[in-house]
Amino acid sequence: MINRLIFLLLLSSVADAQTVVAPSNASDVMVSERARQIHESAIVIDTHADTTQRFLDENFDLGSTDPNDAGHISLDKARRGNLGAEFFSIWVDPTTHQGHFAQYTLDLIDSVYEQAARHPDRMMMAVSVADVERAHREHKLAALMGIEGGHSIENDIRLLRDYYRLGVRYMTLTWSNTNEWADSSGDIDDPKVQHHNGLTDFGRQVVLEMNRLGMIVDISHVSDKTFWDAIVITKAPVIASHSSARALTNAPRNMTDDMLRAVAKNGGVVQVNFFSGFDDENYRKAEEAQSKDMAAAIAQYVEQMRAAGKTATAEDRDRIEREWLAKLPRPPFSSLIDHIDHIAKVAGVDHVGLGSDFDGVSGQTPEGMNSAADLPKITQALLDRGYGAEAIRKILGGNTLRVLGEVERVSREMQAK
Ligand SMILES: [Zn+2]
Repeated sequence: MINRLIFLLLLSSVADAQTVVAPSNASDVMVSERARQIHESAIVIDTHADTTQRFLDENFDLGSTDPNDAGHISLDKARRGNLGAEFFSIWVDPTTHQGHFAQYTLDLIDSVYEQAARHPDRMMMAVSVADVERAHREHKLAALMGIEGGHSIENDIRLLRDYYRLGVRYMTLTWSNTNEWADSSGDIDDPKVQHHNGLTDFGRQVVLEMNRLGMIVDISHVSDKTFWDAIVITKAPVIASHSSARALTNAPRNMTDDMLRAVAKNGGVVQVNFFSGFDDENYRKAEEAQSKDMAAAIAQYVEQMRAAGKTATAEDRDRIEREWLAKLPRPPFSSLIDHIDHIAKVAGVDHVGLGSDFDGVSGQTPEGMNSAADLPKITQALLDRGYGAEAIRKILGGNTLRVLGEVERVSREMQAK
């Protein structure tokens, strides 16, 4: 789920998981036989997709083969892209679900299980390295879950444990909103929000309990100080489940080179986000330049509806936002690869992975990246830049699987004590 300026301006976030309209393009990456072979030999893992919102909001079925559905993920698209494991994001809008975060968290978790139950021949729930490997052997999509935003635990460590028991294997400490125990990059400059200078004492307890349980600590979205607090306190490797490099694209929720090196030292992985606004500086600036006008257009629509005695829905807001964003030129496919390459160079090839943010970016991905079916193009592009088969398999999923295994090991050690 991307961090939106309008979230700050309107304090009403847009559910950006609706049907995606992605134009096709001419300058496509052609995937060679060798790239195809390497890609098919890998366990490809994506650490962040917001398709979960579609399950509830649109009653979307992953088995859909609707050619007019331009969403990023379906079982068919996953198969064509050899996507082996997906972390479905459990994201609870902190504004619209105020007062019942846990309930909506449970609803989203249920929706993932329901999809797996509908498609037992092509999909299975997974909570461990062993599960992901078994799904790979059985040619099924492994469905994992990550909670996006610590507000889901409602300041209750018992709820955190319940979510683990239900199969949640990572939690992003914050979304774009600062919660009662961790600061977010999304509102860090907003004087109306009460901040904590990073993690509170309870926030540190949450991190350690996640380590003990075997739930990966995810530092995407958090403020810089929260990142540094978390990296000091954690006893297990962390991930940035959907973040790119700030040296290339100056978004406050991208990772600085110092952070990339710290994640490498920690043994963790930064999974590159496919959102154009995090991968291309020109796009980011263009989006920023029109963000106030876009927010004003949405506010005007909301007011019009109110005057007419109606309520603007999240879908309405999302539609307007998509109309505005569609005016911006799509960045080239290479902008996504530049981030993978930069992180591999700064942190090392063992510390970079894929965190698409599919179905959570209002369709705004670089040219040629229109769905999970396009994942083999990443393998081709990395081959073209001189990466070998082993390095590519690490980036596609091996590194993420290693972190999950390490987190399992640290958990066993902590529980033995
Ligand atoms: Zn997000």
